[in-house]
Amino acid sequence: APAKDRNRILLKLSGEALMGAEPFGIDPSILDRIAAEIKELVDKDVQVGVVIGGGNLFRGEKLAKAGMNRVAGDHMGMLATVMNSLAMQDALERLRVGTRVMSAVSLTGVCEDYDRRYALRFMREGQVVIFTAGTGNPFFTTDTAACLRGIEIDADVILKATKVDGVYSADPNKDPEAVRYDKLTYNEALEKQLGIMDLTAFCLARDHNKSIRVFNMNKPGALIKAVIEGSEGTLISC
Ligand code: UDP
Repeated sequence: APAKDRNRILLKLSGEALMGAEPFGIDPSILDRIAAEIKELVDKDVQVGVVIGGGNLFRGEKLAKAGMNRVAGDHMGMLATVMNSLAMQDALERLRVGTRVMSAVSLTGVCEDYDRRYALRFMREGQVVIFTAGTGNPFFTTDTAACLRGIEIDADVILKATKVDGVYSADPNKDPEAVRYDKLTYNEALEKQLGIMDLTAFCLARDHNKSIRVFNMNKPGALIKAVIEGSEGTLISC
C-alpha cells in the first residue's frame, strides 16, 4: 500500500461546532479557524475526511416533536448537513485546499455522489473529502455516518470534535469532581453510560475496531496535536 495510507483521519464536526457564539447557523470566523486547522493537517500530509452534522440548522427529531413527519424532518436535517459542508468547502478552497463534497444522496450540480474509491483517490492526492448528507437514510445521525465512512475509508482514527476536553465521569460544567478519562474501552464507556455517541454509531465503531478520539475543537491547536501526537482528549478503543 502507498506510504500515505497511514495518517488518514475522519473528522466529525457537529453542526453546533460551526455555530460559535451565534444562536443558529454558521459563524464565519469559526468556519475559517477550523478550515485553517484542517489545512495544517493537509500540509503535514495527513489525509483528511470530514463529516459535518446539521444540528445548527435542523434536526429531524426536533422537527418531528413540533409535528412534522419524521422522515421529512430527517431529509431536512440531511440537507442541512449539505449546507454546512458547502460552507466548509468554500472556506477550505479560499485557503487553496482542494476539497470535494461527496453526498450520500444525489444533488446534481451541487456536489458529487459518494464513491469510496474516488474518495480514497482524492484523499491520496491531498484533497479534503467532506462526506455529506449523513448516511442518506432517515433515523440515523451524522455520528453514525462518521463511523460508517471512517470504517469504509479505513481511517486510523475517528476524531469527534466537541466543546469539552474529552470524556468526563460527569458533566465538568456542573460537577467539580468530574474527572477526564485519557483512555476508555468501548465496554467501559457503555457500562458507565457515558453517552459519547448514539449507540448505533458507537457499536458500529466497536464492532469494526475503529478507535474514536473525543477532543475539544474550541482549543486552538488541539486537532493538530490529536492527530500528530496522538494526545488530547479521550481515546476510546477496544
Ligand atoms: N440525519 C439523517 N440521517 C443521517 C444523518 C443525519 O436523517 O444519516 C438528519 C437527522 O435529522 C439529524 C440531522 O440530519 O438530526 C442533523 O444531523 P445530526 O443531528 O447528526 O447533526 P449534529 O448533531 O452532528 O450537528
